[in-house]
Amino acid sequence: MKVLKFGGTSMANASSIRKVAEIIEKDADARFIVVSAPGKREPSDIKVTDLLLDCIEERNRAGICDAALEKVVKRFDEIINGLSISLDLTPEFNVIRDKINGGAGVDYAASRGEFLSGIVTAKFLGMRFIDAGDVIRFDMEGNFDSETTNRLVEQKTQEVARAVIPGFYGKMPNGKIKTFSRGGSDVTGAIIARGVKADVYENWTDVDGFMTVDPRIEQNPQIIEMLTYKELRELSYMGANVLHPDSIFPVRKADIPINIRNTFNPSAPGTMIVPTKKYMSGEYKRTDRTITGIAGKTDFAAIYVEKSLMNSELGFARKLLKILERRNILLEHLPSGIDTMTVVVDAASLCPETVNAVLREIKEELSPNNVEYVEGIALVAVVGHGMNRKKGTASRVFSALSDADVNIRMIDQGSSELNIIIGVENGDCQKAIKAIYREFNKK
Ligand code: ASP
Repeated sequence: MKVLKFGGTSMANASSIRKVAEIIEKDADARFIVVSAPGKREPSDIKVTDLLLDCIEERNRAGICDAALEKVVKRFDEIINGLSISLDLTPEFNVIRDKINGGAGVDYAASRGEFLSGIVTAKFLGMRFIDAGDVIRFDMEGNFDSETTNRLVEQKTQEVARAVIPGFYGKMPNGKIKTFSRGGSDVTGAIIARGVKADVYENWTDVDGFMTVDPRIEQNPQIIEMLTYKELRELSYMGANVLHPDSIFPVRKADIPINIRNTFNPSAPGTMIVPTKKYMSGEYKRTDRTITGIAGKTDFAAIYVEKSLMNSELGFARKLLKILERRNILLEHLPSGIDTMTVVVDAASLCPETVNAVLREIKEELSPNNVEYVEGIALVAVVGHGMNRKKGTASRVFSALSDADVNIRMIDQGSSELNIIIGVENGDCQKAIKAIYREFNKK
């Protein structure tokens, strides 16, 4: 049994929704369908979710939302006419208009794209509609409540042959709508897959699969036929964004593989994302490769701390991390040497006052020989389970970077030997990724 999630481009207009229907009709295992709101029809188009956010902006500015909502009405009219179904969304739009004008918040407005998209798709496919508000739960702080949700999904899908469920949102205990972060319909798909104990979670998008590297950096990169949950986590943390990074958590609880597929090229096998344990134990086979993927992210900052005999000073790391904890600073990486320790943080999370205070406290409390704060660092992650079996991988990575004239600021190799993380200047990020990709994909 499968859960299929279709993203914004698959739901963008009547012709793409017809493609979705063809995929579902051909597959008797396709039982639960999770949909996004209509996305962009062409690059300059505006996603329905953004049009709905404009409604809130219009209401805040002009007192009521009017023209902005009309654009949403028009998008759905076009879809309904193109699908030749008899469906009148006027009552739904009246409720939405009243609620937004009555003070409803951003999450409510943003969620309505998925809500309406779900109603339209269910009607077109002749399937039942299950409102995500009835199954996806958040707590009063707005955190996703996975166990209550799982119970509700199990209950509400029992004895349902096939159904369409909108992605992206759920409800808090007080009935208020809450959304996941942008792109969150992927997360809903994973939650439903866990709740119905699917054999596979198919995530249908507009590319042939997860690529070894961002195609904006290297044209036509290879599609990764299979990657593990762990590899996915490393690559998506670094910004490889085919799938919402939080999608992994629900399916991991139930060992359900994810298959990334392309609605516009359904014969392509896509990318399988499989449980790490099962891959390691040989249950899944893939073509032998040293590196699975490369991704990079800019705008990190590093706090370098140097102190002679740091290694023999009990509690040094604890004291350093305590200073950051007191100021609510999240730690991204912690590469260290014998007498040096570097704390890598997200630069956007720090204001100049906080930086100054942290540096002062480090000086006062740790008496280092040197402390430095460096901004504009990009991290490039080279990821793959194949690395620990192949000698010379690191040296190939570093030679490729030196040949490309990239200055390495920092190196961090995870103890699992699943990744090598290299810190470079922001401006060298793309050059570094390209150089490493070419080294491992020589024709
Ligand atoms: N429609 C939402 C967004 O644009 C969620 C999604 O498509 O997954 O972010």
